[in-house]
Amino acid sequence: MEFPRPIRILLVEDSRDQAVFFQAALGKAFKHAHRIDLAESLGQCFELLADSRYDLVVLDLGLPESQGLETLNTFFRVMGPSNPVIVLTANSSEGIGESSIRSGAIDFLTKGEFGADQLARAVRYGLERWRQRMALDEAQRNLKSFAHVAAHDLKSPVNSIGVYAHLLKQKALSREADSEELEFLGLIENFTDQAEKLVDSLLHFSVLGEKAVNLTAVDVERLTRQAVSNLTARVEEDGATVEIENLPKVQADEGLLIHVLQNLISNGIKYHGDARPHIKVSGRQLAGEVEISVTDNGRGIDPKYFNRIFEPFKRLTGREDPEGVGLGLAICNRVIEAHHGRIWVESEIGVGSVFKFTLPSPPDGSETIDAESDPVFSHEAKTAVNN
Ligand code: ADP
Repeated sequence: MEFPRPIRILLVEDSRDQAVFFQAALGKAFKHAHRIDLAESLGQCFELLADSRYDLVVLDLGLPESQGLETLNTFFRVMGPSNPVIVLTANSSEGIGESSIRSGAIDFLTKGEFGADQLARAVRYGLERWRQRMALDEAQRNLKSFAHVAAHDLKSPVNSIGVYAHLLKQKALSREADSEELEFLGLIENFTDQAEKLVDSLLHFSVLGEKAVNLTAVDVERLTRQAVSNLTARVEEDGATVEIENLPKVQADEGLLIHVLQNLISNGIKYHGDARPHIKVSGRQLAGEVEISVTDNGRGIDPKYFNRIFEPFKRLTGREDPEGVGLGLAICNRVIEAHHGRIWVESEIGVGSVFKFTLPSPPDGSETIDAESDPVFSHEAKTAVNN
């Protein structure tokens, strides 16, 4: 990695001996010009970061004011996710290094188990990994804003085409136009309707990721009833029944979760088989998380598509299913990912499908968590989508 200037490293370490060792080891093996500043506590670290920019923070997890993962979590809570952090741990056996990576650190080193060469390597690769992560974030942001602008600018002309197609049809009807003319106008209306849905879904998809997830303890049972009520037209049109079992509470963003429920229930009805659609929403409490299942008796899905259907614009249906743009499950996937849950499908052709997802349980005794202060969620922030 090319750096045009000396690399600035902030070492957060309360042991003078360790700090001296670190400086000496890095000086020996890391050939790029660098400067190391030392903070002996988290408080001092925040003061230095408020005044200057550093290319890398090396954070000892055992500090006077906090220990273990709590140190890293506090760091991200206060500073946000915009600093690359290598963690120094005292003990390699407790999986704390791996947990640190999951929490956002770019690497970890176990004290007493690394020498000058390993340290130089970790710093070099850590900086490169960080550069790649930033480049990827930037590319994703550009793509999202491109999709957003394109969808936003298409919305108005597409709506206008729909309005004028409708007016033309009314005029044609009033002068008893021939059936082919009426058929063509009807087709224009249908396709415009389809284009409007695509543009709306694209807009919703592109804004996912821009706002913080607002986490509260959510009553999923009540929310599912709300989702079904929002789908009344679809339920009545297809003569569907929706059964809702007792559902445990989850820690989630209510505005996002209702769209997941609506998408899954609506798909269960939309992709029905020969039988009248029957959807069941059930849930079970697992350790620290809840698993929600949306079961249907629909046409089923071939196992070879189990993963692909969660990708944007992946549809399995053809012309006989004009509705849908292939973004519903991609949106569900993003929303569940933003909550650090999992979503998957189990299905059998001709029998039906079960879409399952997991969400964290609410923390004991706490009804709400401020998402802005949660480093994991604030840096994978998502916003509400509407149908
Ligand atoms: P859309 O419904 O707009 O096509 P989705 O992302 O919601 O997009 O679904 C992707 C594809 O997965 C659908 O086109 C459909 O073929 C399939 N699918 C989704 N849900 C079901 C279901 N409950 N039963 C059968 N197939 C489904």
